[in-house]
Amino acid sequence: MSCTNGQSAERIVDVAVIGGGPAGSTAATKLSKLGRSVKLFEQTQHPRFHIGESLLPQNLEIFEELGVLDSVQDIGVLKPGADFTTLTSEAHVSFRFAEALTPQFKHAYQVRRSEFDHLLLRNAQEKGVDVFESYSVQDCDFSNPDYVEVVTKDADGAVNRHAARFVIDASGRDTFLSRRFGLWERNRQHESAAIFSHFRNVQWRSGEDEGNISIYWFEHGWFWLIPISREITSVGMVAKPNFLKASPGSIESKFQQGVEANPALKARMTNAIRDGQMRSTGNFSYSSNKLFGDRFALVGDAFAFIDPVFSTGVFVAMRSGSSIGEAVDIYLADRSSGIRALRRHEAEVRSMLKTFSWFIYRFMEPSMKTLFMSTNNRFQIRSAVISLLSGRYAGDIDFRARLFAFKCLFVVLEWYRAVFGAKQPTNSRLL
Ligand SMILES: Cc1cc2nc3c(=O)[nH]c(=O)nc-3n(C[C@H](O)[C@H](O)[C@H](O)COP(=O)(O)OP(=O)(O)OC[C@H]3O[C@@H](n4cnc5c(N)ncnc54)[C@H](O)[C@@H]3O)c2cc1C
Repeated sequence: MSCTNGQSAERIVDVAVIGGGPAGSTAATKLSKLGRSVKLFEQTQHPRFHIGESLLPQNLEIFEELGVLDSVQDIGVLKPGADFTTLTSEAHVSFRFAEALTPQFKHAYQVRRSEFDHLLLRNAQEKGVDVFESYSVQDCDFSNPDYVEVVTKDADGAVNRHAARFVIDASGRDTFLSRRFGLWERNRQHESAAIFSHFRNVQWRSGEDEGNISIYWFEHGWFWLIPISREITSVGMVAKPNFLKASPGSIESKFQQGVEANPALKARMTNAIRDGQMRSTGNFSYSSNKLFGDRFALVGDAFAFIDPVFSTGVFVAMRSGSSIGEAVDIYLADRSSGIRALRRHEAEVRSMLKTFSWFIYRFMEPSMKTLFMSTNNRFQIRSAVISLLSGRYAGDIDFRARLFAFKCLFVVLEWYRAVFGAKQPTNSRLL
């Protein structure tokens, strides 16, 4: 097999990973720790900007597994929970992770993604992964039965060829292989777009809520406020693409109109000064109709992305990065056992996404707002929702029964709205 600039034969590595975000770094590290030879190609040079700064308590378990928990703690802002404010509410309602059903971890972190992703990639390198930055994957040729040929272009424009027994696509929203194989499907039922930037002088929450991610609903969507350092807060607006297209002006003025429409948010942004460019991203909800095939698998955003509202993106990317590593290791040892492991992995990932998306798809419904703004914890239903917000998606009967009860309450409220119009019970005793 000829590799790198057409020079003489190089060994065929076990796995090539496309993309050095959280999914790619996690999968690569896991495989290297399992004794596999891994090449990882990242088209940019870290540190580089990325959105997705609020992490979940369940991420901590993966940080421990990768050996980066202390380093993440050093760069992160402690996140004790999430709080929600509606347009009409007088105060915010907090969901503290410590109040989850049998919480495994009572906090999470919020990070500047450039630092976080850099840290994960360096860790992968330290654990033995051969990392190629400023290497963009251009093509993958599966025609040879012995190896997949991965074609890269480096920063100088040089084209190199690498041979690997298996390819993991962790290319994020570029969805490199999913698009190439025609697996990519837009989610037309959940269309959203976002405008976001970093700001100085945004007022923090105080006391037990200091460090929280704050979510503000407004008529056409919602905002996030994520403290990522003592000085900097990430602020973003998520709304229907049609609403954003229809509102006049630049993305800066659309964003400002959203802030102005929300008095509680505006109060926290009174002295805010933008630090960095205003960015936007279009419709971001999609999935792929297959997670794996002959000598390839998709992981993280390269497979699917639902919505940022519960900050599940990095967790899903890393949880599935870790488990795809295990499945591919089995595949390389024995193909038929590996296919069974990949099937189990796919079922697990789809179940995780399904659990989160039931709540996320209904997030803008009035009944969901009513339930979220209720502080009652009768039958520990609220605690189960906090567990879900911590990143728990599977569990014992206690957890599942309480989530089911929440869903039933939602359905009853929706029915009530349909029958009696907007006059919905709004008291805090609902749960
Ligand atoms: C508006 C918005 C807000 C969000 N907020 C949150 C949040 O608060 N919390 C959260 O957990 N998640 C959030 N997310 C989701 C989060 O950003 C992603 O889920 C997460 O980054 C996925 O990680 P990944 O490794 O799969 O992909 P990425 O982090 O996107 O990494 C993919 C990497 O692949 C590289 N790449 C792409 N193509 C190639 C190629 N051809 N060759 C080589 N390299 C390539 C890219 O340069 C990139 O570094 C948000 C998403 C959006 C859209």
